[in-house]
Amino acid sequence: MTRPPTLRLRKRLEDRLAAGHPWIYRDALEGGSGVATGSVVDVVGGDGCFVARGLYDARSPIAVRVATLEEREAIDARWVAERVAGAVLLREVLFSGEDTDAFRLIHGEGDRLPGVVADRYGTTIVLQLDGDAARAWRDPVSAALAVLPGIVCIYERSRGYPQEAILGPVPREAITIREHGVRFAVDVVRGQKTGFFLDQRENRREVRRFARGRDVLNLFAYTGGFSVNAALAGASRVTSVDSAAPALAAARDNFALNGIDPTRHVFATADAFAWLADAVARGDRYDLVVVDPPSFAPSERVLGPALEKYRELNALALAVTAPFGFLVTASCSSHVRADAFLDIVSDASVRARRPLRVLDVRGQPADHPSIAAFPEGRYLKLVIAEVGGERAVG
Ligand code: SAH
Repeated sequence: MTRPPTLRLRKRLEDRLAAGHPWIYRDALEGGSGVATGSVVDVVGGDGCFVARGLYDARSPIAVRVATLEEREAIDARWVAERVAGAVLLREVLFSGEDTDAFRLIHGEGDRLPGVVADRYGTTIVLQLDGDAARAWRDPVSAALAVLPGIVCIYERSRGYPQEAILGPVPREAITIREHGVRFAVDVVRGQKTGFFLDQRENRREVRRFARGRDVLNLFAYTGGFSVNAALAGASRVTSVDSAAPALAAARDNFALNGIDPTRHVFATADAFAWLADAVARGDRYDLVVVDPPSFAPSERVLGPALEKYRELNALALAVTAPFGFLVTASCSSHVRADAFLDIVSDASVRARRPLRVLDVRGQPADHPSIAAFPEGRYLKLVIAEVGGERAVG
């Protein structure tokens, strides 16, 4: 193994790196000039001793994404294949015996393959490489995925790169997947992200417990993940709101796909905030309200306004939740920690003057693992709460 170019730590990050924190920001490093993006680099401590080996990015603020802490490990195609095999093994543990054929096969940093996301939808894998550095792994990752039993298609959707099939034909038709026995049509070419929000799988199932006989409102419904589960669990009516018309058309199809008559339910293409304001004005009340917005805080810089947006949204949602109804509310922003999100829910309850009993605080499922020493990896928060029966004043 020829020795990779070396960068030196300017900050004392050795302990955090040793605990598996996978990112080293440029301001924590010296050296690296002339090193090409996607190159393997070694990071040494102030004493010159080896600390970590990873992929270099000449432009991103995250200069190095750590691949290994083992000095003897060469980062080559065989190494990538071993990491992919490790990720696959975990999913075999998680999903054997489950009626689920769609899950995250590789969750980047959480699977110690930084920047590499692979979502499996039946026999198709959607590959999403985050950043120019991770793209250096396109070939070895694809090769390792292509030999998995039952895989007929690998389709790449990396931001800033053309979408294309790496293996097999472009999946032009929606793929019907099963999630805990529920069927969904997933359009991996035109759908949002890789086609489906797999990270809410266990939460969608959990919501079934609260939906029976209830009038349900699902805000930011996308293709009806929570809606279909609620309807299957016996909700009296489900109202799905989303600003994307194609997503709601797919939601309708997903009701039908599961034997539910979509004409008995409501689909509203609208901005959720505007729709809620109207619903509040009308005096609408729902027994179960699901709120699953996109990330309002894509960066730390806009965290302040984002927190306010979450507060406002949740206060509005509470205003249309019936006494003794349930609120299921989520945030997928990695910049909003679990405690901060509970504070948002608390603030919303104060603002709406509705008492809330927290029943459950949940997160992302096990196929989206996170390193303990890397809290940014725990991006999904979901709170299930019961709204008090007391009458709001004011
Ligand atoms: N709960 C969904 C995933 C939601 S993803 C599931 O289980 O599959 C977030 C959704 O919010 C997307 O479908 C997007 O189209 C929608 N969206 C984004 N901004 C919106 C807005 N202002 N009003 C309504 N919907 C919005």
